[in-house]
Amino acid sequence: MDNIKNTSLLSILCEPGELTLAIDNPADGSVVGYIPLQSETEIDECIRKSRLAQKLWQKRPAKERSHFLYRWYELVMENQADLARLMTLEQGKPLAESMAEVAYGASFIQWFAEEGKRAYGTTIPAHTEDRRLMTIKQPVGVAAAITPWNFPIAMITRKAAPALAAGCSFIVKPANQTPLCAYAVVELARQAGMPEDLLQVVVHHSPEKVGDIFTRHPMIRKLSFTGSTRIGRQLIAQSAETIKNTSMELGGNAPFIVFDDADIDQAVQGAIASKFRNAGQTCVCANRFYVHDAVYDQFVSRFIEAVKNIKVGNGLEEGVQIGPVIDALAKERILQKINLAVGQGATIATGGESLDGCFVEPTVLTDVQHSMSFLREELFGPVAPIVRFSNDEQLIHQANDTVYGLAAYFYSRDITRIWQVAEALEYGMVGINEGIISTELAPFGGVKQSGFGREGGQEGLEEYLETKYLCFGGIN
Ligand code: NAP
Repeated sequence: MDNIKNTSLLSILCEPGELTLAIDNPADGSVVGYIPLQSETEIDECIRKSRLAQKLWQKRPAKERSHFLYRWYELVMENQADLARLMTLEQGKPLAESMAEVAYGASFIQWFAEEGKRAYGTTIPAHTEDRRLMTIKQPVGVAAAITPWNFPIAMITRKAAPALAAGCSFIVKPANQTPLCAYAVVELARQAGMPEDLLQVVVHHSPEKVGDIFTRHPMIRKLSFTGSTRIGRQLIAQSAETIKNTSMELGGNAPFIVFDDADIDQAVQGAIASKFRNAGQTCVCANRFYVHDAVYDQFVSRFIEAVKNIKVGNGLEEGVQIGPVIDALAKERILQKINLAVGQGATIATGGESLDGCFVEPTVLTDVQHSMSFLREELFGPVAPIVRFSNDEQLIHQANDTVYGLAAYFYSRDITRIWQVAEALEYGMVGINEGIISTELAPFGGVKQSGFGREGGQEGLEEYLETKYLCFGGIN
């Protein structure tokens, strides 16, 4: 592959064959490369090896594990340009966004290299004179993950780094559309000195089969999933049989609210960043805009002007801000939702055209009512529907009127309103005068049908730890 300096990142590539997977470039439909598919027996073997590797890894002092993670972080950053190019080729996002994702993904490795050293237990005041009570933290064991295509590196490192820092081993099944980044980032962990079986990638032609193996295998003690609510629900049900520890980062339906006292320039800037990053294909993307009547015309005209200036194209080209959506099916779904919205009475204020290939024009929909059914689900594309509101109380009801609860955003300069709204929104994360909220320093995750568990922050490590209570008796 041209311009990729560290060719060891791509050693997984093979010639096409019966048991290989082709990875397509969504920008032009060309094949980026082929990789081998694993069999069920090979996946089972990976899990067994992972268990053995975990037992040894757990015994290493946290400080030693931290050194490996830190070296991994450094190697990811040293290879940032190569990883970013690979990401744009297989996923389509603009190169600048890929560079940012590599740095974001690496930041979790750096953070958990530190946090792993702070897996503190507690001492507990005892209930009798002759007893002493305490807790210790221990790794859950073998952790498995299933990740989506929209953040091919960050969704892996957000799970792998805390798992490894906690003393777990880790197996990931990446999305079949973006496995190259997964292999590349795991290759760098090996170059950082981590044992081969500690961190593994599995790719099988059937995601259902991998889900089935991961959820039912007794050696896998933890399953962390990022993806759609539909598949998450299925994996939770399957995990019931082995009572597996699960974390679920699922879909969202984020409201983006602009109150009458908002700084409109700031709100437009936040709206563009939140809505159009990754061509609108992020779980925390603003999905529904609610703008107060008093500032509606002002906000909408500035927003439309900004949207018209967004450059769409192949992510490798200079200055491109929106790349293709992931595939033809995704494009079809987005266009269908625009048609549905128009059928329900919405107006296309800008965009809405079908471009060649997997590209969708950035689109703004006005004359949208909260009651329109297309607002119930994630649009997962560069489409911004705007609802007008005039009553704060009704607005909060509408913002919470969804089964999802991942991220919400609002713009206001009134401190009382800010506290009231922040507390009233039924979401795991709230951006206040801010459209980009993700960072390794803070807990990322949802409530309601957006899932449970947190990634990043202090909480991220807890997902991979068990608390063991020790009771010492006979101390007189
Ligand atoms: P998806 O269809 O649920 O796929 C996610 C992962 O699950 C992929 O690796 C996929 O494999 C795999 N998968 C599909 N069917 C499966 C099955 N029956 N059993 C086990 N695994 C299965 O989701 P997506 O469309 O790729 O991703 C978009 C969704 O992810 C959106 O809803 C988005 O909001 C959500 N998301 C959430 C977060 C968060 O942190 N909350 C972050 C990013 C994305 P294949 O790709 O090989 O089919």
